[in-house]
Amino acid sequence: MRIISSIDEMIETARGWLTGGTVGFIPTMGLLHRGHLSLIQAARNECEISVVSIFVNPLQFSSEEEFKKYPRNITQDLMFLRQVNVDVVFLPRAEDLCPPATSTYITLIGALADRWGGKHNPHYIRGIATIMTKLFHLVRPDIVYFGQKDAQQIAVAYQVVRDLNIDIQLRILPIVRESDGLAMSSRNSLLSPLERQAALMLYQALLKGKALIERGERDSQLIEQAMIQHVQSNPLVVLDYAVVCDPESFEKLPAVKSGTLLIIAAQIGAVRLIDNIVWQSDGQWLM
Ligand code: AMP
Repeated sequence: MRIISSIDEMIETARGWLTGGTVGFIPTMGLLHRGHLSLIQAARNECEISVVSIFVNPLQFSSEEEFKKYPRNITQDLMFLRQVNVDVVFLPRAEDLCPPATSTYITLIGALADRWGGKHNPHYIRGIATIMTKLFHLVRPDIVYFGQKDAQQIAVAYQVVRDLNIDIQLRILPIVRESDGLAMSSRNSLLSPLERQAALMLYQALLKGKALIERGERDSQLIEQAMIQHVQSNPLVVLDYAVVCDPESFEKLPAVKSGTLLIIAAQIGAVRLIDNIVWQSDGQWLM
Protein backbone atom coordinates (compact mmCIF):
# COMPACT_ATOMS: atom_id res chain seq x y z
CA MET A 1 0.00 0.00 0.00
CA ARG A 2 1.43 3.32 -1.06
CA ILE A 3 0.86 6.36 1.17
CA ILE A 4 1.00 9.73 -0.55
CA SER A 5 0.89 13.03 1.30
CA SER A 6 2.47 15.36 -1.22
CA ILE A 7 0.26 16.93 -3.88
CA ASP A 8 3.06 16.76 -6.46
CA GLU A 9 3.53 13.05 -5.81
CA MET A 10 -0.21 12.47 -6.21
CA ILE A 11 -0.21 14.32 -9.54
CA GLU A 12 2.83 12.37 -10.72
CA THR A 13 1.26 9.05 -9.68
CA ALA A 14 -2.09 9.84 -11.30
CA ARG A 15 -0.33 10.66 -14.58
CA GLY A 16 0.72 7.03 -14.70
CA TRP A 17 -2.74 5.54 -14.11
CA LEU A 18 -3.65 5.08 -17.77
CA THR A 19 -1.35 2.12 -18.12
CA GLY A 20 -2.56 0.48 -14.88
CA GLY A 21 -6.30 0.14 -15.56
CA THR A 22 -9.42 1.72 -14.06
CA VAL A 23 -9.08 3.74 -10.89
CA GLY A 24 -11.73 3.60 -8.16
CA PHE A 25 -11.62 6.45 -5.66
CA ILE A 26 -13.20 6.73 -2.20
CA PRO A 27 -12.93 10.17 -0.60
CA THR A 28 -13.29 10.04 3.21
CA MET A 29 -12.66 12.02 6.38
CA GLY A 30 -11.22 8.97 8.14
CA LEU A 31 -12.10 7.08 11.32
CA LEU A 32 -13.05 4.34 8.93
CA HIS A 33 -15.88 1.90 9.61
CA ARG A 34 -17.95 -0.71 7.76
CA GLY A 35 -19.73 2.00 5.76
CA HIS A 36 -16.40 3.05 4.24
CA LEU A 37 -15.45 -0.60 3.85
CA SER A 38 -18.46 -1.27 1.61
CA LEU A 39 -17.25 1.48 -0.76
CA ILE A 40 -13.68 0.15 -0.71
CA GLN A 41 -14.84 -3.39 -1.47
CA ALA A 42 -16.95 -2.17 -4.38
CA ALA A 43 -13.95 -0.29 -5.80
CA ARG A 44 -11.69 -3.31 -5.35
CA ASN A 45 -14.20 -5.53 -7.15
CA GLU A 46 -14.73 -3.18 -10.04
CA CYS A 47 -11.39 -1.42 -10.58
CA GLU A 48 -7.75 -2.39 -11.02
CA ILE A 49 -6.52 0.40 -8.75
CA SER A 50 -8.17 1.55 -5.52
CA VAL A 51 -7.43 4.94 -3.96
CA VAL A 52 -8.75 6.14 -0.61
CA SER A 53 -8.25 9.70 0.56
CA ILE A 54 -8.44 10.75 4.18
CA PHE A 55 -8.86 14.46 4.62
CA VAL A 56 -10.85 16.20 7.33
CA ASN A 57 -11.99 19.09 5.19
CA PRO A 58 -11.64 22.36 7.10
CA LEU A 59 -13.77 24.21 4.52
CA GLN A 60 -16.94 22.27 5.29
CA PHE A 61 -17.27 22.87 9.04
CA SER A 62 -19.36 25.60 10.61
CA SER A 63 -16.54 26.61 12.98
CA GLU A 64 -12.93 25.93 13.87
CA GLU A 65 -14.21 24.23 17.04
CA GLU A 66 -16.38 21.80 15.03
CA PHE A 67 -13.40 21.02 12.78
CA LYS A 68 -11.10 20.34 15.75
CA LYS A 69 -13.58 18.09 17.47
CA TYR A 70 -14.10 15.81 14.44
CA PRO A 71 -12.81 12.35 15.52
CA ARG A 72 -9.56 11.14 13.96
CA ASN A 73 -7.30 8.10 14.24
CA ILE A 74 -4.92 7.90 11.33
CA THR A 75 -2.85 5.00 12.73
CA GLN A 76 -5.94 2.82 13.07
CA ASP A 77 -7.17 3.87 9.61
CA LEU A 78 -3.89 2.93 7.93
CA MET A 79 -3.93 -0.50 9.58
CA PHE A 80 -7.51 -0.98 8.37
CA LEU A 81 -6.63 0.07 4.80
CA ARG A 82 -3.62 -2.23 4.72
CA GLN A 83 -5.78 -5.16 5.78
CA VAL A 84 -8.25 -4.55 2.97
CA ASN A 85 -5.49 -4.17 0.38
CA VAL A 86 -6.08 -0.65 -0.81
CA ASP A 87 -3.45 0.36 -3.40
CA VAL A 88 -3.00 4.04 -2.63
CA VAL A 89 -3.91 6.19 0.38
CA PHE A 90 -3.87 9.92 -0.25
CA LEU A 91 -3.42 12.01 2.90
CA PRO A 92 -3.11 15.60 1.70
CA ARG A 93 -2.04 18.20 4.22
CA ALA A 94 -4.56 20.98 4.89
CA GLU A 95 -1.95 23.68 4.26
CA ASP A 96 -1.33 22.20 0.77
CA LEU A 97 -4.93 21.47 -0.24
CA CYS A 98 -6.45 24.66 1.16
CA PRO A 99 -3.61 27.17 1.56
CA PRO A 100 -4.56 30.48 3.20
CA ALA A 101 -4.06 32.32 -0.10
CA THR A 102 -6.90 30.37 -1.79
CA SER A 103 -9.47 32.61 -3.46
CA THR A 104 -11.13 30.17 -5.88
CA TYR A 105 -14.08 28.11 -4.64
CA ILE A 106 -16.84 26.05 -6.23
CA THR A 107 -20.15 27.67 -5.31
CA LEU A 108 -23.51 26.12 -6.12
CA ILE A 109 -26.71 28.10 -6.40
CA GLY A 110 -30.31 27.13 -5.71
CA ALA A 111 -32.10 24.86 -3.26
CA LEU A 112 -29.32 22.31 -3.24
CA ALA A 113 -26.95 24.87 -1.76
CA ASP A 114 -29.36 26.81 0.45
CA ARG A 115 -31.45 24.10 2.05
CA TRP A 116 -31.00 21.55 4.83
CA GLY A 117 -27.27 20.90 5.38
CA GLY A 118 -26.54 24.10 3.42
CA LYS A 119 -28.86 26.17 5.61
CA HIS A 120 -27.57 24.71 8.85
CA ASN A 121 -24.00 25.52 7.81
CA PRO A 122 -23.51 28.06 4.99
CA HIS A 123 -19.92 26.81 4.40
CA TYR A 124 -20.92 23.18 3.95
CA ILE A 125 -21.87 22.96 0.28
CA ARG A 126 -19.08 25.24 -0.95
CA GLY A 127 -16.62 23.33 1.24
CA ILE A 128 -17.51 19.89 -0.04
CA ALA A 129 -17.85 21.01 -3.68
CA THR A 130 -14.46 22.73 -3.66
CA ILE A 131 -12.55 19.91 -2.02
CA MET A 132 -14.21 17.12 -4.03
CA THR A 133 -13.35 18.97 -7.25
CA LYS A 134 -9.73 19.35 -6.18
CA LEU A 135 -9.52 15.68 -5.21
CA PHE A 136 -11.08 14.61 -8.53
CA HIS A 137 -8.43 16.65 -10.39
CA LEU A 138 -5.55 15.33 -8.32
CA VAL A 139 -6.52 11.65 -8.19
CA ARG A 140 -7.98 11.44 -11.74
CA PRO A 141 -10.28 8.50 -10.96
CA ASP A 142 -12.54 6.70 -13.42
CA ILE A 143 -15.16 5.89 -10.79
CA VAL A 144 -15.85 7.65 -7.49
CA TYR A 145 -17.72 5.80 -4.74
CA PHE A 146 -20.08 7.56 -2.34
CA GLY A 147 -22.39 6.24 0.37
CA GLN A 148 -26.08 7.14 0.33
CA LYS A 149 -25.56 8.33 3.91
CA ASP A 150 -24.59 11.82 2.73
CA ALA A 151 -27.47 12.40 0.33
CA GLN A 152 -26.85 16.09 -0.20
CA GLN A 153 -23.17 15.45 -0.92
CA ILE A 154 -24.18 13.00 -3.64
CA ALA A 155 -26.49 15.56 -5.25
CA VAL A 156 -23.64 18.10 -5.11
CA ALA A 157 -21.24 15.59 -6.69
CA TYR A 158 -23.63 14.91 -9.58
CA GLN A 159 -24.17 18.64 -10.11
CA VAL A 160 -20.45 19.48 -10.03
CA VAL A 161 -19.51 16.62 -12.37
CA ARG A 162 -22.25 17.66 -14.80
CA ASP A 163 -21.64 21.41 -14.65
CA LEU A 164 -17.85 21.21 -14.90
CA ASN A 165 -17.81 18.35 -17.45
CA ILE A 166 -15.63 16.18 -15.25
CA ASP A 167 -15.07 12.83 -16.90
CA ILE A 168 -15.83 10.43 -14.05
CA GLN A 169 -18.63 8.06 -13.10
CA LEU A 170 -20.28 8.13 -9.69
CA ARG A 171 -21.36 4.99 -7.86
CA ILE A 172 -23.72 5.27 -4.91
CA LEU A 173 -23.89 2.48 -2.33
CA PRO A 174 -26.53 1.86 0.35
CA ILE A 175 -26.13 3.02 3.94
CA VAL A 176 -24.44 0.49 6.22
CA ARG A 177 -26.20 0.37 9.58
CA GLU A 178 -25.57 -1.00 13.06
CA SER A 179 -27.70 -4.03 13.95
CA ASP A 180 -30.33 -1.77 15.56
CA GLY A 181 -30.56 0.45 12.45
CA LEU A 182 -28.37 3.42 13.41
CA ALA A 183 -26.47 4.60 10.33
CA MET A 184 -22.75 4.04 10.86
CA SER A 185 -20.86 7.29 11.18
CA SER A 186 -17.46 8.37 12.45
CA ARG A 187 -19.36 10.84 14.64
CA ASN A 188 -21.16 8.02 16.51
CA SER A 189 -17.92 7.50 18.46
CA LEU A 190 -18.57 10.85 20.17
CA LEU A 191 -21.98 9.77 21.58
CA SER A 192 -22.42 8.83 25.25
CA PRO A 193 -24.34 5.55 25.84
CA LEU A 194 -27.55 7.50 26.51
CA GLU A 195 -27.06 9.64 23.41
CA ARG A 196 -26.29 6.52 21.38
CA GLN A 197 -29.69 5.17 22.43
CA ALA A 198 -31.37 8.47 21.53
CA ALA A 199 -29.65 8.52 18.12
CA LEU A 200 -31.84 5.61 17.05
CA MET A 201 -34.79 8.00 16.90
CA LEU A 202 -33.60 9.27 13.51
CA TYR A 203 -33.85 5.92 11.77
CA GLN A 204 -37.08 5.09 13.59
CA ALA A 205 -38.59 8.38 12.39
CA LEU A 206 -37.63 7.51 8.80
CA LEU A 207 -39.27 4.10 9.25
CA LYS A 208 -42.46 5.84 10.41
CA GLY A 209 -42.41 7.85 7.18
CA LYS A 210 -41.76 4.72 5.15
CA ALA A 211 -44.65 2.86 6.80
CA LEU A 212 -47.04 5.71 6.00
CA ILE A 213 -45.95 5.79 2.36
CA GLU A 214 -46.37 2.03 2.11
CA ARG A 215 -49.89 2.39 3.47
CA GLY A 216 -50.65 4.79 0.60
CA GLU A 217 -50.13 8.16 2.30
CA ARG A 218 -48.86 10.77 -0.19
CA ASP A 219 -49.28 14.02 1.75
CA SER A 220 -45.72 15.10 2.61
CA GLN A 221 -46.86 17.32 5.46
CA LEU A 222 -48.50 14.41 7.27
CA ILE A 223 -45.43 12.24 6.76
CA GLU A 224 -43.13 15.00 8.03
CA GLN A 225 -45.41 15.53 11.05
CA ALA A 226 -45.18 11.84 11.94
CA MET A 227 -41.38 11.91 11.72
CA ILE A 228 -41.14 15.14 13.74
CA GLN A 229 -43.48 13.86 16.45
CA HIS A 230 -41.46 10.69 16.83
CA VAL A 231 -38.14 12.49 17.22
CA GLN A 232 -39.57 15.11 19.58
CA SER A 233 -40.66 12.40 21.98
CA ASN A 234 -37.02 12.14 23.12
CA PRO A 235 -35.70 15.30 24.81
CA LEU A 236 -32.07 14.43 24.02
CA VAL A 237 -32.75 14.83 20.30
CA VAL A 238 -32.89 18.39 18.98
CA LEU A 239 -34.38 18.15 15.52
CA ASP A 240 -33.01 20.31 12.72
CA TYR A 241 -35.23 19.02 9.91
CA ALA A 242 -37.28 16.00 8.84
CA VAL A 243 -38.49 16.50 5.28
CA VAL A 244 -39.80 14.88 2.15
CA CYS A 245 -37.81 16.24 -0.79
CA ASP A 246 -36.57 15.66 -4.31
CA PRO A 247 -33.31 13.65 -4.29
CA GLU A 248 -31.68 15.80 -6.98
CA SER A 249 -32.83 19.37 -6.42
CA PHE A 250 -33.47 19.00 -2.68
CA GLU A 251 -36.65 21.08 -3.13
CA LYS A 252 -39.42 20.12 -0.71
CA LEU A 253 -42.07 17.93 -2.34
CA PRO A 254 -45.71 18.65 -1.42
CA ALA A 255 -46.67 15.10 -2.34
CA VAL A 256 -44.72 11.86 -2.36
CA LYS A 257 -43.94 10.46 -5.80
CA SER A 258 -41.74 7.62 -6.92
CA GLY A 259 -38.22 8.97 -6.53
CA THR A 260 -38.61 10.68 -3.16
CA LEU A 261 -36.05 11.28 -0.44
CA LEU A 262 -36.85 11.38 3.28
CA ILE A 263 -34.06 13.21 5.09
CA ILE A 264 -33.52 13.92 8.74
CA ALA A 265 -30.89 15.75 10.79
CA ALA A 266 -30.66 16.34 14.51
CA GLN A 267 -28.28 17.44 17.21
CA ILE A 268 -27.73 14.99 20.03
CA GLY A 269 -25.54 16.50 22.73
CA ALA A 270 -22.51 17.85 20.89
CA VAL A 271 -23.01 15.59 17.87
CA ARG A 272 -24.94 16.35 14.69
CA LEU A 273 -26.30 13.27 12.94
CA ILE A 274 -27.99 12.84 9.55
CA ASP A 275 -29.85 9.95 7.96
CA ASN A 276 -32.12 9.34 4.98
CA ILE A 277 -34.03 6.75 3.00
CA VAL A 278 -35.06 6.90 -0.65
CA TRP A 279 -38.22 5.60 -2.26
CA GLN A 280 -36.81 4.88 -5.70
CA SER A 281 -38.69 5.14 -8.98
CA ASP A 282 -38.80 1.31 -9.20
CA GLY A 283 -40.73 1.27 -5.90
CA GLN A 284 -37.78 -0.20 -3.98
CA TRP A 285 -36.33 1.46 -0.87
CA LEU A 286 -32.66 2.49 -0.72
CA MET A 287 -31.98 2.72 2.98
P1 AMP B 1 -17.01 10.46 5.62
O1 AMP B 1 -15.71 9.86 6.01
O2 AMP B 1 -18.04 10.44 6.70
O3 AMP B 1 -16.86 11.81 4.97
O4 AMP B 1 -17.63 9.52 4.50
C1 AMP B 1 -16.89 9.15 3.37
C2 AMP B 1 -17.79 8.37 2.45
O5 AMP B 1 -18.29 7.23 3.13
C3 AMP B 1 -19.03 9.18 1.98
O6 AMP B 1 -19.32 8.85 0.63
C4 AMP B 1 -20.10 8.68 2.91
O7 AMP B 1 -21.40 8.80 2.37
C5 AMP B 1 -19.70 7.22 3.06
N1 AMP B 1 -20.30 6.69 4.28
C6 AMP B 1 -20.21 7.19 5.54
N2 AMP B 1 -20.95 6.46 6.38
C7 AMP B 1 -21.53 5.49 5.65
C8 AMP B 1 -22.44 4.42 5.94
N3 AMP B 1 -22.91 4.20 7.16
N4 AMP B 1 -22.81 3.62 4.92
C9 AMP B 1 -22.36 3.82 3.65
N5 AMP B 1 -21.52 4.80 3.32
C10 AMP B 1 -21.11 5.63 4.30
